[in-house]
Amino acid sequence: MQSIIVIGGGFAGLWAAIGAARKLDGCSISNEEISITLINADPYHAIRVRNYEADLDDARVPLDDVLDPVGIKRIEGTIVDIKPLERRLTIRMATETKTVSYDKLVLASGSQVRLPPISGLHGPVFNVDTTNEAERLNRHIATLSRLSDRPGGNTVVVIGGGDTAMDCVRTSVRQNAKSVKCLYRRDKENMPGSAREVANAEEEGVEFIWLSSPKKFLGANKIESLIVNKIKLGNPDESGRKKPEIQKDSEFNLKADMVIKALGFDPENLPKLFRSEDLQVTKWGTLKTDFDTMETNLQGVFAAGDIIRGASLVVWAIRDGREASISIERYLKKKSLQKTKAA
Ligand SMILES: Cc1cc2nc3c(=O)[nH]c(=O)nc-3n(C[C@H](O)[C@H](O)[C@H](O)COP(=O)(O)OP(=O)(O)OC[C@H]3O[C@@H](n4cnc5c(N)ncnc54)[C@H](O)[C@@H]3O)c2cc1C
Repeated sequence: MQSIIVIGGGFAGLWAAIGAARKLDGCSISNEEISITLINADPYHAIRVRNYEADLDDARVPLDDVLDPVGIKRIEGTIVDIKPLERRLTIRMATETKTVSYDKLVLASGSQVRLPPISGLHGPVFNVDTTNEAERLNRHIATLSRLSDRPGGNTVVVIGGGDTAMDCVRTSVRQNAKSVKCLYRRDKENMPGSAREVANAEEEGVEFIWLSSPKKFLGANKIESLIVNKIKLGNPDESGRKKPEIQKDSEFNLKADMVIKALGFDPENLPKLFRSEDLQVTKWGTLKTDFDTMETNLQGVFAAGDIIRGASLVVWAIRDGREASISIERYLKKKSLQKTKAA
């Protein structure tokens, strides 16, 4: 039996797997002849776009509900290594580590939350980048209403200047935060989020602290305050944007009850993570991919979604997944032709 393996149960991975199943059907090739397996870290397809909704349950679709009806197998686990020459990969699961072989492989493992090296960032600072984190934030908001009034009480500080940051500040206003502040390291003119959203947020009472960047988060189990550096914009960097530079002796302390970071996403270092040093990446860390075929530099290894584009959009992930399945179809058609000739 031959095998198509897809890594990642996001939009790109799902579309690649389901697209391949459809093509298999179209070529009259059964699951016994070629199997399709999707490997994902957990049992859910996570719809991150709906993390801000009050009920997060709908944002998690059980993968089996979608995969079972079209005969796609699922393995819950993470990839430890890929050996492209042997066409084998190792999966770490809850109770065992398993090595499987593949004929065609699709990498669709998305992008990962950006974690700059700021002291105290990992503990009591929240984000809405994954469903689990959004749920943790909801639980924390529920505890705030029980706290007595004090300096910084019910103050929310959001860090970042993109669309997610704008969602967070405006949602915080709607959830009755006493004061909502947005820290952004550049100025209003150089903010990535939509100018209309900024104007709406200002109208709703959000205070923007431009040209500022957190240096340190203080507080053990709960945030108490943050140390902030003032920033000045220097010469343009390699991206052409003015580089934020810390102003000397400009630190100030900002009291807060809650900090939400919305700093964006980076591609994971897949060659390192998958111990597959031959896998080539671009200067942005995304996988080098031929956008006509979705094939990486490794033969038979395709890629789709955020892992080739950086943090992007659902429509692109879907498109890439479909394109990868079209490339797999060429291979399936060859198989189907061989079958017909042999008959
Ligand atoms: C908060 C937020 C809001 C967004 N809002 C919008 C929006 O409004 N509109 C829009 O179009 N886009 C939005 N996006 C972007 C959109 O969600 C992504 O572009 C899209 O999900 C990318 O799809 P993907 O399949 O490439 O990756 P993902 O959806 O990230 O899926 C990757 C999957 O791979 C799994 N995985 C990762 N590593 C491994 C591993 N080693 N082994 C096994 N499995 C692994 C993960 O568990 C995950 O299930 C938003 C993103 C975020 C975070």
